[in-house]
Amino acid sequence: MGKEGKGLKRCSTSTDVEASDRKSRKPLEKAETELQNLETQVNPQKRKKKYEIKEMKKLRKSFQEMTETMKNLQEFFLGRADLPGITMKEEAPEEPKGEMEGSAEYECCFETEDSDANVDHAVLVVGIDTCLAREDIKSALRKHFESGGCQVSRIFVPIECQTGVPLGSAFILVDDKQKALRCRGAYMGKSVFLVLLAEDQEFSVTFPNFRGCPKCPLFRMKHRQRNWLARR
Ligand SMILES: [Zn+2]
Repeated sequence: MGKEGKGLKRCSTSTDVEASDRKSRKPLEKAETELQNLETQVNPQKRKKKYEIKEMKKLRKSFQEMTETMKNLQEFFLGRADLPGITMKEEAPEEPKGEMEGSAEYECCFETEDSDANVDHAVLVVGIDTCLAREDIKSALRKHFESGGCQVSRIFVPIECQTGVPLGSAFILVDDKQKALRCRGAYMGKSVFLVLLAEDQEFSVTFPNFRGCPKCPLFRMKHRQRNWLARR
């Protein structure tokens, strides 16, 4: 019993040693944490920086995971390109080729000769239904102004280059602008259009929401050169 007691005692002594060790470490840890707290209190930027670094690490990890998923998805689709309905493998290389050739598939807004007109002799029509086709708008406007007694020599209907969707405006080159203004607006499709003088109008009015394309400056420069030569 005595031996056991001794053993127990020794055992408890050893835990006492550990406990005392922990006790002596505790104030040290406490001091450290206090120091850290003090530091972060004194320097909130340091705390912010720590937080930012942590967030950056998190973001980087999720981005890596996302890239990995995308890679897997791509492999999944490309590996099954021969299945009906999925033709990514065949379509992918064709796209950049088209861009390099100057995208001949679409018509630039200024590619048509109709855009080569002096706005000083034109009236502007705004508010055209953009769901209508360019040619339909042209023929409807020609009818409208000719029935009002105007001689129409040219009609330019601006479109968005890449999509071919009309912008909702049109320039009508007429013999008599005042006569054209008297023709006033009318219904075309679902919208009512208005007739204004074309000169001195803001670009946002004449070309509403126009984005254009890389070919636009080239065609406009050609028109300007031709007009300049014609005036000489
Ligand atoms: Zn264009």
